[in-house]
Amino acid sequence: MGYIEELKNVLGDKVMTEEFERFIFGADWSPRTTDEIFMPDVVICPRSTDDVVKTVRIAYEHGIPVTAGGGLTGMAGGAVPIHKGIYIDGTCLNKIIEVDVKNQTIRSQSGASLQDLVDAGEPHGLWFPVLPESKWSCTIASAIACDNDSTFGMKYGKPLNQVLSIELVTGKGEVIEVGHRKTRFSASGYKLKDLVIGSEGTLGVITAATVKMEPVPEHRYVDMIIFPSMGRAVEYLDAILKMGLVPEGAHINCKRRLKFYTHAYKEKHGHDPKVPDWAGSLLAIIFAGDREVVDFSLEKAYSLANEMGGQVVEEREIVDNWWISKHTLDFPPFKQKWPASQKEKKFGAADPGVPMGRLEDFYEKFIETAEKYDLEVLGMNAYLEHPGSIGFSLSCALFVDYRNQDEVDRYRKYFEEMSKIAVDMDGTMSTYMSDTDLKVP
Ligand SMILES: Cc1cc2nc3c(=O)[nH]c(=O)nc-3n(C[C@H](O)[C@H](O)[C@H](O)COP(=O)(O)OP(=O)(O)OC[C@H]3O[C@@H](n4cnc5c(N)ncnc54)[C@H](O)[C@@H]3O)c2cc1C
Repeated sequence: MGYIEELKNVLGDKVMTEEFERFIFGADWSPRTTDEIFMPDVVICPRSTDDVVKTVRIAYEHGIPVTAGGGLTGMAGGAVPIHKGIYIDGTCLNKIIEVDVKNQTIRSQSGASLQDLVDAGEPHGLWFPVLPESKWSCTIASAIACDNDSTFGMKYGKPLNQVLSIELVTGKGEVIEVGHRKTRFSASGYKLKDLVIGSEGTLGVITAATVKMEPVPEHRYVDMIIFPSMGRAVEYLDAILKMGLVPEGAHINCKRRLKFYTHAYKEKHGHDPKVPDWAGSLLAIIFAGDREVVDFSLEKAYSLANEMGGQVVEEREIVDNWWISKHTLDFPPFKQKWPASQKEKKFGAADPGVPMGRLEDFYEKFIETAEKYDLEVLGMNAYLEHPGSIGFSLSCALFVDYRNQDEVDRYRKYFEEMSKIAVDMDGTMSTYMSDTDLKVP
């Protein structure tokens, strides 16, 4: 009997083989032409860990490749089944298993979205702070598999900081639990849980996880400060930390990148938001907690900005637009996050990281490398992602014509070169997408 027949015998209608059922699993958000869509041979929609075990055991016996995916918003092709075979649609495993209010944890199946964790905690005054822009589609398994970014990373960090325990089905179909159950840390044994974080599905299929929840902040305020350069914004944040202030989040946008986040503003006013000619970067800074403490922090932050040559953005609508695009995505009059130009050209980003003192140099390299490969620059973001210190993820974004194979190929060369430049600057080739075959062919 063929392996697909065997799967159907044990899993019934959780097995999908029709072309129209398999087609959408052949690509994610990474720029690729239609020639580069890799449809899996069969798609499994598991409802339990046991369904995953049965699938993986059959795959192992027959030597069939298995790819696990979530919301398919990955931007580096990690969930694209380039070897075909079996695709496990992780979004089917989407149940919240337990909300433990006393211990401030949630246990859920791995395909719950990050927003599902927020919604489950909310009635109990709990909040899950690892929230990328894609929180409605990004699953907890994918967040673990990529160690992705968060809007609130400067206070809470990444999945590495918030995930306590992970259930995994290994390549032979064994179920293991790695981590320290509901405790915050452990000095017992190897850090196998940390090994799984960022492993991109190469160590097994994640089926459940326990995460640390946080109290819902009473009050939050977001503002934006203009600086003459990216480097000056970094110096400012360093000074903020030295003062003892604790921002919940911080994001440094280059001037071009701001436009990308404010297309709703342009739709409404017929022009881009005005920023001074001398602006080199726009820092978005977030404070949250007790209202008086937030107000006090803001007062200190504004006065320091003034001393360091920064200028608070006067037009509140610019800040509100950025925040809507970044976090709430409630976009009147149309609910589209990214500009209409996405229909012509797709957003493509390299995600390397460099140490804090190299950001300015790296920005120049970004522009140079994009020009070398004749690609249209969209802009750079530095997301602060290390709790209480300066550590950033970079999004070095371009527009890529996904219908043009030559342009997609040039984009991939750009991507690879940016990774090498970052490593040569004592950095890392990935900060939130992980490696995938784009960087490690
Ligand atoms: C509009 C938009 C905004 C975005 N904003 C951000 C952002 O703010 N911050 C950020 O970091 N990223 C962002 N991203 C990129 C993307 O959302 C994240 O990388 C996210 O982690 C992908 O989640 P997903 O569920 O869509 O993953 P997928 O693309 O489905 O998969 C991603 C990886 O996880 C692995 N995986 C999935 N499920 C499992 C499983 N059960 N077991 C083992 N491995 C598994 C896959 O094999 C793959 O390697 C954005 C993307 C888009 C399209």
